[in-house]
Amino acid sequence: MAMSKIGIIVTLGILIGLSSCRHTSEDETESKLQWGHLAEDSLAPESPQFLINKKPSETYRVCLADYLKAELPGIEGEISAAINIWAHYIGRKIPVIIEARPLSRSTVTDTVESLSDSYFKACGSGFDVVVGFGPLDGGTVGVTGASYSFRALPNGKRDIVSFKRFLFLRDFAVRPFGDGSENKGWVSLQARSGKVRTAQEILDLMTSRSMLQFSSDRRSLSLSVLTHEFGHVWGLCDQYEGAANCDSKNSTSHLVLDSVMGGESSRQTVYLTDDDIQGIRALNAREGFSHNWPQSPSSAQNPVPLTISEVEHFEINNVTRDSKNLVITYSVFTNVPAKIRISLMPQQGGREIPLTGLLESGDVPFKQGWSRLSVALTDQDKTKYKVKAVLQKAKDSTTLKSLQSADFL
Ligand SMILES: [Zn+2]
Repeated sequence: MAMSKIGIIVTLGILIGLSSCRHTSEDETESKLQWGHLAEDSLAPESPQFLINKKPSETYRVCLADYLKAELPGIEGEISAAINIWAHYIGRKIPVIIEARPLSRSTVTDTVESLSDSYFKACGSGFDVVVGFGPLDGGTVGVTGASYSFRALPNGKRDIVSFKRFLFLRDFAVRPFGDGSENKGWVSLQARSGKVRTAQEILDLMTSRSMLQFSSDRRSLSLSVLTHEFGHVWGLCDQYEGAANCDSKNSTSHLVLDSVMGGESSRQTVYLTDDDIQGIRALNAREGFSHNWPQSPSSAQNPVPLTISEVEHFEINNVTRDSKNLVITYSVFTNVPAKIRISLMPQQGGREIPLTGLLESGDVPFKQGWSRLSVALTDQDKTKYKVKAVLQKAKDSTTLKSLQSADFL
């Protein structure tokens, strides 16, 4: 076989958006503490629908759809930690009370509004939020929102007399992604790690800022999306392309895709980034939002430095073959500019066949989850191959990591 017949035909990044957005990694910017707060008019120091306004003696009451406990084991600890990881960095602790109720899964005719109405009715009064799976569309995997009634005050402010907040994770059984991305839905931290943790242990894990997850199993980690959505409940806005909920007075227009509020679910941070922490601290420091909590967090609440490794993740997720092509799905996340050399190893031995194209990240690091590349084979080629992939530093071609696919195809 002539080597020139083998070349890389297509590469396509597949990313899954958090909240109401799907984004690409093309506008990746370095984190420069470009946090942002919600532009919502109702984010004021007396708006009870935001977590930032909980007073030191108050609890946070969650009405949880009980099917979530079965689908996402450990979900209650995750909810408590997703709330309190934000509290941690401003020296607060929110007591979370979770009551599970036999709520029904959404149907194909449900909307987010109809579902939240029926959940509120079933939960009864006194809850700060209802949490369940919801009928989300497009690339959205999580959403939170609140409806409220208010009394207009003479000074132009709003006295919020009641509110209903919902927080939904996408119900993939009712609304699968229609783009062939083969998302398999959700996985809880407990299910993925095989380890049962209390809420405090999850919080400790998050504050250690040591766990980074990649969706090798094609499932989104519920904890990461809950942390993002509860970030909104605190009062923070989205930091990804296309989002329009940031207050121009309290954020820059720059994206911080690596942050929790930037959210990119094939790379799942089980911690808050510096940018997220800067954002919640800035909100706490805004006039009127400190609510008798300690003025500034103690040194114990300062973030542990992040360890930056050159390679965060490099994996051949999958290799398939049809009559003409070998389709390789791979994920690569680096913190240095890099390149990938791919070659085919024939089953009967002999020389490795390097592919003619080279995947390069350019001047920036690789941030690609579940990218596919297609290698065209000739009709006559009945050889079975393994795929070998070598990740190298762009600067000096030092090998960072070398991989081989499992089987000959
Ligand atoms: Zn969001």
